[in-house]
Amino acid sequence: MSLIIHRCTCGHTPGQHESDSQGKPSRGCHPIGGCRCSGYDPQPTPVLLPTWTPTGRPIPEITPPGERSDRRRTCDCDACQALYATLTADAGAR
Ligand SMILES: [Zn+2]
Ligand SMILES: [Zn+2]
Ligand SMILES: [Zn+2]
Repeated sequence: MSLIIHRCTCGHTPGQHESDSQGKPSRGCHPIGGCRCSGYDPQPTPVLLPTWTPTGRPIPEITPPGERSDRRRTCDCDACQALYATLTADAGAR
């Protein structure tokens, strides 16, 4: 399932940040590429994070905002709901 996420202001995804005991990406980035991010700071505009199957095919389904995916709860703010509605309406028209 693809996820709608807010990238951190450092440009990385929530999954690239250390999680706290509740599983929220509230801490700094994993040490990748020398990123100095000290805490997850979500950008206001959400983006679709594409996922692929192990065979490399894109997964068209999008996890609805607020549902859990891979032990991680997706954001359900208004912006995410709106993006989800746009993306799913687009897929249905095809
Ligand atoms: Zn960050
Ligand atoms: Zn970062
Ligand atoms: Zn959101």
